[in-house]
Amino acid sequence: MKRDLWDAAHKCTKCNSLMKKKTLVIEGIDARGWECTKCKDMVLHPEDAQRILLLSKLKKGIPVTVGELGNSFVVRIPKEIAELYKLSKGEQIMMKAENDRKIELEVSG
Ligand SMILES: [Zn+2]
Repeated sequence: MKRDLWDAAHKCTKCNSLMKKKTLVIEGIDARGWECTKCKDMVLHPEDAQRILLLSKLKKGIPVTVGELGNSFVVRIPKEIAELYKLSKGEQIMMKAENDRKIELEVSG
């Protein structure tokens, strides 16, 4: 993540006052943004706005096919998901049974 944009001084597009950094939780994810000290107008960090957009799109789900590899079954993680969750090869994630129709994958912080 580039620090220049996040650390740069931002001025409100409505009243031209200085904005201060603020961390918000949108759709369950942490997002960085700025809040105007005067009119309280808010702006989201463009990177985080994009993440939230992608997340809400992916919440609808992507169909994947179950394959077979040796004695195991495999499902491929789509690139968009891997990028959103910043997955890398060799990383361990937790697979849990949520109910009889849902499997959960948990990525560590
Ligand atoms: Zn303002």
